[in-house]
Amino acid sequence: RPAEAAKVKAAALGSKTAPKELPPQPPSHVPEPPSFDRRDGATYQVGKMLGKGGFAVCYEGQLPGHRKKYALKIVKCKMPPKMEQKFQTELQIHSKMRHQNIVQFLRAFSYDSCTYLVLELCPNGTLMDMVKRRKGLTEPEVRYYSIQIAGAIKYMHAKGIIHRDLKMGNIFLNKNMDAKIGDFGLAALLVTGKDMQTIRRTTLCGTPNYIAPEILEKGRKGHDHMVDIWSLGIIMFAMLTSKPPFQSSTTDEIYRRARNRDYEWPKPENSTRYISQEAKDCVATMLEEADKRPDPDTIVQHDFFISGYVPLPAEITTKLRDCPPDDE
Ligand code: ADP
Repeated sequence: RPAEAAKVKAAALGSKTAPKELPPQPPSHVPEPPSFDRRDGATYQVGKMLGKGGFAVCYEGQLPGHRKKYALKIVKCKMPPKMEQKFQTELQIHSKMRHQNIVQFLRAFSYDSCTYLVLELCPNGTLMDMVKRRKGLTEPEVRYYSIQIAGAIKYMHAKGIIHRDLKMGNIFLNKNMDAKIGDFGLAALLVTGKDMQTIRRTTLCGTPNYIAPEILEKGRKGHDHMVDIWSLGIIMFAMLTSKPPFQSSTTDEIYRRARNRDYEWPKPENSTRYISQEAKDCVATMLEEADKRPDPDTIVQHDFFISGYVPLPAEITTKLRDCPPDDE
């Protein structure tokens, strides 16, 4: 399923060879037009560039006289239709999220043919950057971040949202080095039990000729949201070993290995870091068939979490960003 998500994303962003049409550099001061809650509007001072994505550029932004900094994500208004669709989904879904481990969406406005998103600033890069630099994390750190990500997944699923593109590169680190899920471009609204009821009711009133039988099946439980649990399993494996489990030179090979659950933990003699049996068992539960995967509450009750140390927030500092654990 994560592979499917990657395909959807590649399609949404156009072919690899298509030139990137990124928005132009903004002026040093960007005016936000007046709105119902800001009658005089506002002007953001634009700071350093934070990064470029598939169709967006991000800069630091600050309101004069305020210390707080934001991330200004700039997107060109004229986008190819597929990108436009991805962006609208992102806007709609992200703006409804409010959780300590999800990048906070603050506002959106238009200026000079571009859409500006004002987001919580995550100045410490992504989980992927840190894991690459550190060549993996310690088990206590893996517990710390996995609990945060599982909490955000629980929140999204309770709201009927499936993220569908969870990966270390989409998990940002705020100033306290806490994990914040970002990029809702591939997220989807789940068809919940209630919606199923509605579908059943409305279709049964009309002509049911065109409705697939599984939609009408009583007690059918969708497992679509379990794609996010699979992704958490991959993220945990990668945090522990610094590589995703099915890493291969071709995409087809990655898919084949994922289908066959063909992965290996590094042998102790080849690994500088200890990986416990509990950690391995915990990851294995998430790489099961969709209907057998644990929900976020069950994950954090696994022995890996219960029988090992979970650092306190104060112990997770920017020091962790760069230095290998052996030096700590
Ligand atoms: P796209 O949706 O086009 O892929 P991203 O959301 O990945 O764009 O943003 C592009 C880059 O901007 C990211 O790779 C990251 O470097 C930076 N960025 C995005 N959001 C934030 C944020 N909230 N705080 C800090 N940097 C960010």
